[in-house]
Amino acid sequence: MELTNSAYIRELLGRHGFHFSKSLGQNFLTAAWVPEDIAAAGVPEKGLGVLEVGPGIGCLTRELSNRADKVVAVELDKALKPILAETLADCGNVEIVYGDVMKMDIAALAEGKLGGLKKAVCANLPYNVTSPLLTAFIEAECFDTITVMIQREVARRICAAQGCADHGAFGIFVQWHMEPELLFDVPPSCFMPQPKVTSSVIRLKKRGLPPAEVEDEKLMFRIVRAAFNQRRKTLVNALSSQLGKVTKEQAEQAIANCGFDTRIRGEVLDIGGFAKISDEISKITHTDL
Ligand code: SAM
Repeated sequence: MELTNSAYIRELLGRHGFHFSKSLGQNFLTAAWVPEDIAAAGVPEKGLGVLEVGPGIGCLTRELSNRADKVVAVELDKALKPILAETLADCGNVEIVYGDVMKMDIAALAEGKLGGLKKAVCANLPYNVTSPLLTAFIEAECFDTITVMIQREVARRICAAQGCADHGAFGIFVQWHMEPELLFDVPPSCFMPQPKVTSSVIRLKKRGLPPAEVEDEKLMFRIVRAAFNQRRKTLVNALSSQLGKVTKEQAEQAIANCGFDTRIRGEVLDIGGFAKISDEISKITHTDL
């Protein structure tokens, strides 16, 4: 594909006087198989409306355009406007929205631009905003799948099995709402300029139901955050020091009532374990925490 050919990219960018911005995470793909495989993973069926963030010069956007019914792509860098007008001139089902995706109401954007279509996200994300962006996509609640290329380290954490060292509060949040799948790695040599780290493509599929039942989801996530904020502390100490009115004795009792050792650290628990402890804490304290 022309748009991933290094010589062509240099000529195109040079002709438009474009310079890469590090702060915008601009690393453009230079290996045709990567946008092809990301689009194939993100848009496996007909009839989808796809949100892309950061089209760059449009190599993934073109692949998405071939597969999806409609593509809406949000790009912050207006210097790419004349370039995208050239590279996507023949893609009638693509609409580019110029602006900062972090300042947009994602659900309203998707509804407004992709209407009644089944919706998906598919993108090579700017790495500096990965976590807040994924959070916004998940909280928008309108995407059946989210297929993104991100830093390998972050991908590993999101997909980590519970109770292992990579496991953290953000991974639990993602896994509560979505089923994650680690698809493939992409080495730095596939980009211009080359980033320092390896990238990975992950696909998140919306769950029909959360992986466990819990009475108070908000409380459970406060417990998860408290546990991982102080990973080195026992769960009893992490909870009693961070959960307002919960005493050490109450935390101990809640953990013991769930059948766990009261000396455990939160990082060994899976989502179901956190849900159980959350329900016990609500029962024992009977108070508005
Ligand atoms: N899709 C292209 C590719 O794969 O070659 C470029 C991906 S590049 C990693 C990230 C893109 O996101 C850049 O085009 C950058 O300008 C854009 N970007 C960065 N921050 C953004 C933001 N807050 N809102 C929208 N686009 C942003």
